Amino acid sequence: MQKLRFDNAFVRELPADPEQVVAVRQVAAAFSRVEPTPVAAPKLVTWSPEVAAGLGLDERDLSRPEFVRVVGGNALLPGMEPWAANYGGHQFGVWAGQLGDGRAISLGELVDEQGRRQELQLKGAGPTPYSRGADGRAVLRSSIREFLCSEAMQHLGVPTTRALSLVLTGEKVVRDMFYDGHPREELGAVVCRVAPSFIRFGNFELPASRGDTALLRQLVDFTIRRDFPELRGEGEALYAEWFGQVCERTALMVAHWMRVGFVHGVMNTDNMSILGLTIDYGPYGWIDDFDPDWTPNTTDAGRRRYRFGQQPDIAWWNLSRLAGALAPLFGGVEPLQAGLDRYAQAFADADRRFVAAKLGLTECRDEDVALMQSLQSLLKEGEVDMTLFFRALADVDPYAPTLEPLRHAFYDPEKQWRTEAGFQAWLARYTARLVEDPQTREARRALMHGVNPRYVLRNYLAQEAIDRAEQGDYAGIGELLDVLRHPYDDQPGRERFAQKRPDWARTKAGCSMLSCSS
Ligand code: AMP
Ligand code: MG
Repeated sequence: MQKLRFDNAFVRELPADPEQVVAVRQVAAAFSRVEPTPVAAPKLVTWSPEVAAGLGLDERDLSRPEFVRVVGGNALLPGMEPWAANYGGHQFGVWAGQLGDGRAISLGELVDEQGRRQELQLKGAGPTPYSRGADGRAVLRSSIREFLCSEAMQHLGVPTTRALSLVLTGEKVVRDMFYDGHPREELGAVVCRVAPSFIRFGNFELPASRGDTALLRQLVDFTIRRDFPELRGEGEALYAEWFGQVCERTALMVAHWMRVGFVHGVMNTDNMSILGLTIDYGPYGWIDDFDPDWTPNTTDAGRRRYRFGQQPDIAWWNLSRLAGALAPLFGGVEPLQAGLDRYAQAFADADRRFVAAKLGLTECRDEDVALMQSLQSLLKEGEVDMTLFFRALADVDPYAPTLEPLRHAFYDPEKQWRTEAGFQAWLARYTARLVEDPQTREARRALMHGVNPRYVLRNYLAQEAIDRAEQGDYAGIGELLDVLRHPYDDQPGRERFAQKRPDWARTKAGCSMLSCSS
């Protein structure tokens, strides 16, 4: 591990907080230097071999006690210069002022042999100047959820931050899971996250909100230089191109979420990555029965701002907040408006691509979008499992259409019966369209199976792995990750991971209800 090379551009090129105390306060700089607080007894629970290999770490490195000390926050490697980033954000639609990394501490920017940069960041590493009265720690359940989901998303082809490791701290953390006066002690944990950049929309919003255009410009120049090196040009034109790219990447990310049935749960602007990566896995959830109104986040249960079907609009709203923050760098609003238009266009393009592929069509006509929309209404009305339905759709014979291959995806016999005729009519329209599409059956199946996963991280599956881990049995995490590594393959013997949500999980905490407490 000593051979790893770090080049910490963020702390080298951006203005630092002049004070070096951890006390909570307002900071007029891009970051504060702060070290992880050591933990009592770090124990490596699991790691991602793919992420490790990508960083140049082999099995031997991972088995060294030094590795656990570093990813648990008890030691630093030569070249690491830990810091907590300063950012603000709009939370649930309201400007929340300075937030910052309250429990995440970046260790350094690792540069691999190909020159690729990966920032290593510990989540749950102890207090920082941005902890705002909280403890800077994370609990095992939320750390397992972040570790598993970020890796699962990667294997699904969804842009995301990654997770290298999950460490138990050997310390207890008190959390009131539903903020309802029932605090309890939970196991503390630290995840080491990995991404080329952890810069968020909120990093730009904060200096903009304070009228600090100099810092805002510095941050933008830095981000373009480090994280978008392929962009050419200068001045306003470069800024405009960069913002347009951010818009397009965000559009692609959200289109993927909609394709696989992922609900982020807390799309605040401080949880939006400038690279268009899914970031900050908190009270996220996966769609079981197709329901655009569903949100897993109990903190948002009243207004459902971040419900599944609203995510594309919220991403646009968040980008428009970013545009507002960047406005001082532009002479007029047109370039920013053009960027937002690129969001709409990129989302529509990606969405059409996914509509076609999910239905097994070589191209997407306007009437195919309508075909998908009427299917979605039926899926909601009939209470049908999204993942199971789309996966099984490839089994429908265009020349002898029946609902047989799809029946197992329904949750409620009564609703199934009520929507039967609607589904029959839809199937007739759909198969007529398939017959017109010049494609072999095998090619269509491969197309559909490449975008309609068989395995997703259903909320109850994650919760089962958590329940076992809280009893000291960590094997469930590895088993689940192993399945989720190949989400588009049929994996004989692993049918149990590709089932409908069981009835007991419908209203159980952790399976259908989650909060921001983590
Ligand atoms: P989140 O809703 O998890 O994105 O967090 C919003 C803000 O609260 C961020 O600034 C976090 O760093 C901070 N935060 C969340 N949990 C903690 C914690 N346990 N200790 C300190 N800061 C926290
Ligand atoms: Mg966050």
